[in-house]
Amino acid sequence: MKILVPVKRVVDYNVKIRVKPDNTGVELTNVKMSMNPFDEISVEEALRLKEAGKAEEIVIVSIGPAKAEETIRTALAMGADRGILIETDEAVEPLAVAKLLKGVVEAEQPGLVIVGKQAIDDDSNQTGQMLAALLNWGQATFASKIDLGSDKATVTREVDGGLQTIDVKLPAIVTSDLRLNEPRYASLPNIMKAKKKPLDKKAPADFGVDVAPRLKVLKTEEPGGRKAGIKVKSVEELVSSLKTAGVI
Ligand code: AMP
Repeated sequence: MKILVPVKRVVDYNVKIRVKPDNTGVELTNVKMSMNPFDEISVEEALRLKEAGKAEEIVIVSIGPAKAEETIRTALAMGADRGILIETDEAVEPLAVAKLLKGVVEAEQPGLVIVGKQAIDDDSNQTGQMLAALLNWGQATFASKIDLGSDKATVTREVDGGLQTIDVKLPAIVTSDLRLNEPRYASLPNIMKAKKKPLDKKAPADFGVDVAPRLKVLKTEEPGGRKAGIKVKSVEELVSSLKTAGVI
């Protein structure tokens, strides 16, 4: 089976986000960019499935600027087999990403697509679901465990208040949650080897997809500052302060 893993280049999760002075968005110049953390988890899961003999090939796809090639190379250094970069300088919204991924799925015919549950830059949590709808495939979102059979996947999902286990018929879309696994680090020799792995370059027009934005960001703001706390001398005082503040 072939597994397709979409990976997004996003602002590194350790970076303290700064809003642009004109409130049109967040500052991206000279900011460290990395692979979306949920996509690292997806790559790791695909590698484990391959190592367990349940998949033969792992194909990585990213939609973004030329520099997104680095993100694909990171996945190749972790152990994936080849990459596809759909190059565009536009900020591509989830629906356009899903349409492009549908084109890649039709060309590559994977048995499973492991998508991150959300990209940590815009927190949309939409792409996997939209892709499943466009392909008319089953979906198992927020996966914390994947058991891959030959014609179905048994997926444990993190839902409010517990875990739910479902079967989905293959081919299917699975979106990865935080507790699915702990991604490995790429070793230096593998980083060197990854530079020689095949990487195809495409454009959105190759898939007939218009990536022009449908949404308009009106304003981006920093979260409001927190007020200073107060010290209380006893539990009784704490309870009465919470009552006064209307918290309990
Ligand atoms: P989102 O729906 O934007 O929160 O993104 C969910 C997941 O969709 C991400 O974790 C990626 O797996 C995939 N994805 C979103 N945008 C891109 C992109 N530009 N290139 C590749 N994969 C993407």
